[in-house]
Amino acid sequence: MDRNQKELSRQSPVGSIYVHVPFCYALCGYCDFYKELYDRQSVSPLVDALLSELRREAAEHALRIMTIFVGGGTPTTLPIPELSRLLGALRDTVDLALREALEFTVEANPATVTTEVAATLVASGVNRVSIGAQSFQPGELLVLERTHQPPQVRQTIETCRAAGIDNINLDLIFGVPGQAIAGWRENLARTIELGPDHISAYALTYEHGTRLTRQLNAGRVQRCDPELEADMYSATIEDLSAAGYSQYEISNFARPGRECRHNLAYWRNEQYLGIGPSAAGYVAGERYKNVPNSAQYIEAIAGGRLPRIEREVLPPDQRAREAAMLALRLNEGLIFAEFAARHGQRAQDIFAHAIEKHVSLGLLRVEEGALRLTPTGRFVADSVVADFLA
Ligand code: SF4
Repeated sequence: MDRNQKELSRQSPVGSIYVHVPFCYALCGYCDFYKELYDRQSVSPLVDALLSELRREAAEHALRIMTIFVGGGTPTTLPIPELSRLLGALRDTVDLALREALEFTVEANPATVTTEVAATLVASGVNRVSIGAQSFQPGELLVLERTHQPPQVRQTIETCRAAGIDNINLDLIFGVPGQAIAGWRENLARTIELGPDHISAYALTYEHGTRLTRQLNAGRVQRCDPELEADMYSATIEDLSAAGYSQYEISNFARPGRECRHNLAYWRNEQYLGIGPSAAGYVAGERYKNVPNSAQYIEAIAGGRLPRIEREVLPPDQRAREAAMLALRLNEGLIFAEFAARHGQRAQDIFAHAIEKHVSLGLLRVEEGALRLTPTGRFVADSVVADFLA
């Protein structure tokens, strides 16, 4: 650590930045993120507003930024000059002494990363790309209303690697209507063959108000049988571990040293700035959420107002509960000593009842000074952690 780094480490707390770019070329029926169809006219005003919020928040909180994640939406829809303007400004918020160690991720959809886009990412300091592959079966992509074709996933990875980005995540979805276990295992095999560093595999959820949920309610698609879905989850853990990916969170798998540091910071309840329409943030003890509407977001920023629709300073008890809930998602679990040092109370005392209940049900276990979900507990993680929030 040189003098400059030592000085920095004394000065300010560590943190992350999330930026939400809402544009997509097509809107997938299952998606409930805030997004809008790409329209060139809307891009520059939004990037202006993002940069304005970024500069204000970065100046106010003076965090030592360790990770940046640009998501959406599909950030790689931005025209090159706007992409470069946004990513360059993000890189410039990070102190020079910290840039080398920065994890800087951009989400991309297959077929949106051209050679020029990849070169722009690299020139702006991006060193990780998260690709929304979701499936390698054309029929499943159709149900999900994804517009890419399976071979485009390989092309996208190759384009990123050729440009110098060697840290790649692939997102997958299981439990798609009509999907069989063999089809899911084929998706896993195709993913492994491509050799990404990190894999996120989430069960399809039917979010309120989405087109897919309306199709479900109208009987036009059928929900995957819960037992089949559980088998798919088991197959995920089995096949990915056999291929050298270790599970470090309920839905996330990585090669050694390639865990997503941005998401780890979130699960460890560290501070992050949320920039952009619908973005959420957690800084200086306050959780907030921005308005999920680009026009209103731009208007608020132009008028010098915070674009918030929610703000809450968490009382210490709530902060401890949220920290426990997030920590339990991780395989490292809730580490008792760290928890007590941070919250001034022992987790074993605050959550005595929930711990006793779930340990006796075989869903949690205490080992190596930590509380962890058991393999069975991971299947019902949401109901276990709910008892820690109550
Ligand atoms: S899933 Fe991704 S690409 Fe599809 S609409 Fe949502 S944000 Fe856009």
